[in-house]
Amino acid sequence: MEAPIGKLTSFDELAPYPEVRVALRDRAQALLAIQEEIGDCTRCPLAYAGRRTIVFGDGDSAARVMFVGEGPGADEDASGVPFIGKAGQLLNNMITAMGLTREQVYIANVVKCRPPKNRVPEPVEANTCSQFLLRQMDVIQPIVVVALGSTAATCLLGVKQPLSALRGRWHNVRRAKLVVTYHPAFLLRDPRQKGEAWKDLQMVMTELGLKPPSKG
Ligand code: URA
Repeated sequence: MEAPIGKLTSFDELAPYPEVRVALRDRAQALLAIQEEIGDCTRCPLAYAGRRTIVFGDGDSAARVMFVGEGPGADEDASGVPFIGKAGQLLNNMITAMGLTREQVYIANVVKCRPPKNRVPEPVEANTCSQFLLRQMDVIQPIVVVALGSTAATCLLGVKQPLSALRGRWHNVRRAKLVVTYHPAFLLRDPRQKGEAWKDLQMVMTELGLKPPSKG
């Protein structure tokens, strides 16, 4: 089913679950095939809004945790890698604090092209691009998806609610459990909320049996 342009549609409404799960050994290749299909994408207006690089996603094709942000910023647009600017450094710290490395997780965004002046993606942009995020998710089959901020939460859940109403409990997306937390860029602006974000990440750690690395 095509996503209606202005309406929010949850991932589960957009496409049925694939009947056959992609085997572990085939996941990297399956992601490559999606990337090739995206090609030099001109499917939405962001292609003509100054984007330099399509930021596909980064990390382990069989990750147990997938983080989803909003869209590439200037650093990501220049490099093609998600979350490598200031917000990315904070995300790296969050991942490390969970006892994981960046190589062990997968990181992607709602849209793969930088919105001009880092504005929030328009529904037509998010709806057009999210078919690929959904397929990445179906290939990777994470146990937990972490939605970073309200754009990711809205896109993945198909509901527009304040973050406060979505945080602190489990949701579902595809076959994964989904938790909503603050976007690292927001945490840079309001570091007092870091403790709240840590509570969200601890839910994930409990689910996956992770322990924070020992300080030595
Ligand atoms: N913010 C995002 O949402 N994604 C990135 O990749 C970088 C900053």
